[in-house]
Amino acid sequence: MKSFAFKKCRYFLGRLERGADILAGLTAFCNTEDIEAGTISAIGAVESGGVGYFDQAASEYREMRFDQGMEIASLTGNISLRDGKVFLHCHVLLADEQGRCFGGHLLDGNIAFACEFSIQALTGEPPLRLPDEATGLFLW
Ligand code: ZN
Repeated sequence: MKSFAFKKCRYFLGRLERGADILAGLTAFCNTEDIEAGTISAIGAVESGGVGYFDQAASEYREMRFDQGMEIASLTGNISLRDGKVFLHCHVLLADEQGRCFGGHLLDGNIAFACEFSIQALTGEPPLRLPDEATGLFLW
């Protein structure tokens, strides 16, 4: 097990503009506010979106894309550094008009209809993502 302790934090509430790419927009916000470690959550809706599923046997992400409006029933994630850059790892649950949910890794191309987010920014040594032999992923 690995863990990281932080004693100070800043807390942000914010909203992305309609049409913004959610992952890119949140990453840009972290860069602007100099946030290198933290947690993130959001709710709202996308005009179109997509989630990723990591195929463990093939060791690659599969993508599911949705070309329709969906609710962001939940978005949760964390902020750390990978290759010296701010890296957001987020998962999202998207709900269709009947409340059916599709969930997975937040991909590029989730376009905000409305997106209200909260970020808890932690001050201290940020976790670093490094290659993990057991999974083939970049983990803390
Ligand atoms: Zn993921």
